[in-house]
Amino acid sequence: MATSVADQVPIAEGLFTWPSNDPRLIGSKCNNCGVVTFPAQNSCPACSAVDSTSIELARRGTLWTFTIQCFLPNRPPYEGPETPDNFQPFAVGYVELPDQTRVETRIKTNDIDKLHVGMEMELVVEKYIERDGKDVIAYFFQPVDELA
Ligand SMILES: [Zn+2]
Repeated sequence: MATSVADQVPIAEGLFTWPSNDPRLIGSKCNNCGVVTFPAQNSCPACSAVDSTSIELARRGTLWTFTIQCFLPNRPPYEGPETPDNFQPFAVGYVELPDQTRVETRIKTNDIDKLHVGMEMELVVEKYIERDGKDVIAYFFQPVDELA
C-alpha cells in the first residue's frame, strides 16, 4: 500500500493545493466582475472577461443541496472505489462557500441519514482510490460536527 507523498497523485491537476498539510481548493476570481468559479477557469462565465486570478477557496461552507447515489454508476467514466459487492449509497451535492461559489462535491459522512441542507461542511482531502500502485487523492466535504 502506498504511504509516502511520492506515492500519491491528485485525481486531477489544479483542483487543490497538493501536497499540503492544509490543502485548499483552487478557484479563480474574475478581475472584471469579481465572480468566483471552481474549478478555476481563465474565461469568466458571468462577463466573459479573460482576466482572472487564481485564489484558494474557503475550507468551510454550507450544504446547499445534495442527492443520494443509490446504485453503482457505470464505469467508465465513473472511477470510484466500489464494486458491485461492496457498494453503499453515497451522497453528492453542492457546498456553498461564503462570498465565493458553490462547489460540486462528493460528500463524506458517517451517517447519510443526518445530512440536511444548510449544515456546516468542511473540506477533506484524502485518498480516494488506488491506481497503478499510487494513492489517488481527491477532495470531499464532510459535516463539521463529524470532524470535531
Ligand atoms: Zn467576470
